[in-house]
Amino acid sequence: MSDIALLPSVTTFFRRDHGMFIDGRHIPSTSSNKIGVINPANGETLAHVSDASDSDIDDAVVSANQGFKVWSRTSPAARAAALFKLADLMEKHREELAQIETCQSGKIIQISRAFEVDQAAHFLRYYAGWATKITGETITPSLPSFTGERYSAYTLREPIGVVVGIVPWNFSTMIAIWKLASALTTGCSIIIKPSEFTPLTILRIAELAIEAGVPAGVLNVVTGTGRVGKALIEHPGTDKVSFTGSVPTGIAVGKGAMEAKLTRATLELGGKNSVGFLRDIDLDKAADGIIEAGFLHSGQICAAAERFFVHRSQIESVMDKLSLRLRALKIGSPLDETTQFGPVTNKQHQQKLAGFFATARAEKSTIVHGGNIPDGPGCFVEPTIILANSVNDTLLNEETFGPIATFLPYDTEDELLHLMNSTPYGLSASLWTNDLSKAMRLIPEIEAGTVWVNMHTMLDPAVPFGGIKASGIGREFGAAFIDDYTELKSVMIRY
Ligand code: NDP
Repeated sequence: MSDIALLPSVTTFFRRDHGMFIDGRHIPSTSSNKIGVINPANGETLAHVSDASDSDIDDAVVSANQGFKVWSRTSPAARAAALFKLADLMEKHREELAQIETCQSGKIIQISRAFEVDQAAHFLRYYAGWATKITGETITPSLPSFTGERYSAYTLREPIGVVVGIVPWNFSTMIAIWKLASALTTGCSIIIKPSEFTPLTILRIAELAIEAGVPAGVLNVVTGTGRVGKALIEHPGTDKVSFTGSVPTGIAVGKGAMEAKLTRATLELGGKNSVGFLRDIDLDKAADGIIEAGFLHSGQICAAAERFFVHRSQIESVMDKLSLRLRALKIGSPLDETTQFGPVTNKQHQQKLAGFFATARAEKSTIVHGGNIPDGPGCFVEPTIILANSVNDTLLNEETFGPIATFLPYDTEDELLHLMNSTPYGLSASLWTNDLSKAMRLIPEIEAGTVWVNMHTMLDPAVPFGGIKASGIGREFGAAFIDDYTELKSVMIRY
């Protein structure tokens, strides 16, 4: 097979002079600094975006505050209607958005279509449904009445204000949609700062939002480097940051937000997610599960697993079966519909992964499969299996965010639990077994925000998602996001 042809609308979009999306339209940046957006599959420059100036940032904040005034007074039903329409428009432009996303991120086209468009639209509709269901509660105050007076109280959930949504490069569309949907559903406005590596798709979606009826100023997109994100978060005119990214940047963001003016912060950070296979598991099922848990989108998924614990008696067989599956993966151009495994998203990340391979060799971990960077201009990395020497090996402890599965054998279930929890992170984990009683007893002992059984990496908008320990603060999805995007106001009445 060969690459699909790019739609004319996609090539035209790449050629545009991209500015900022502020006050409902594209406006030229006042900065002359440009950032090249590189196609990681072949190293070619796709487009240029602007690195926002301080005055661009100020303009976006003014626009978002004006947008907030309008949107927070818009009826919940009208807010929901605009978001449902945006989901429809994303589906209408499915192929265009998927192609832009694949070109900028290297994500295989099937994943761009299924996740970055179809799933993102599904999430958007789920959130839109909440707009009309956000409620406070009525309370009977507890104080005694002294002179016959009575009291009544109730709470209001009020939108927090202007949200800054900081988005990483791995799922630039879906994660931006999670943030804009949370903000717009609750009546907030938002300024999205995409990653400098993947800024394009959300610039196109912002135009669709206007077509869907979202008023000007409610959704703004400001492009640039981390400096731009920091300036937005610490700006006196913003009220909350919703950040998704790495742990070190997340800690800096949290500190900056607190110091600025106790700006509220939701931090969805990285992880080093564990998988434990109990002895009763079918070994083919285990090998298929590892592909699902560790290699989808070349492992560049925050919830993906990187640490795999298998009973000592089974570990060789599991790694053999996994090697066979990895050998059969079709690695190639992400625009070829038959490709199963594409490049990683940028050169810096490819080099970081090369560094992990060097560390594994230096520490004398066993590289069972892969462990190399193929020659060529694309950011390809071999899918890799590593057998660690002990729980202290770097590859079992540091997040690689790449297609690297590191294994360690265990002997007893107590040891398995200890190994699964021996990480400062706690985003996700999975347990694979047919023994329901054992699973039910082990689940409460596992230190992670999400525990899957016989599956891994599947996110559902109805199920809250977020990290414990060093993997973050706050929850997305379900009803849990409402607390993070609203302030609770108490009202008490004497009569
Ligand atoms: P980074 O932390 O490097 O960057 C995330 C975003 O923050 C980017 O938009 C980046 O801009 C911006 N940024 C960088 N510095 C600052 C700053 N000082 N202030 C404000 N914003 C800043 O993460 P990556 O983009 O490398 O993404 C990968 C990481 O994201 C992994 O650790 C992964 O686990 C995590 N992640 C977590 C998820 C979750 O839900 N828990 C989901 C997806 C990813 P720029 O790109 O321009 O530098």
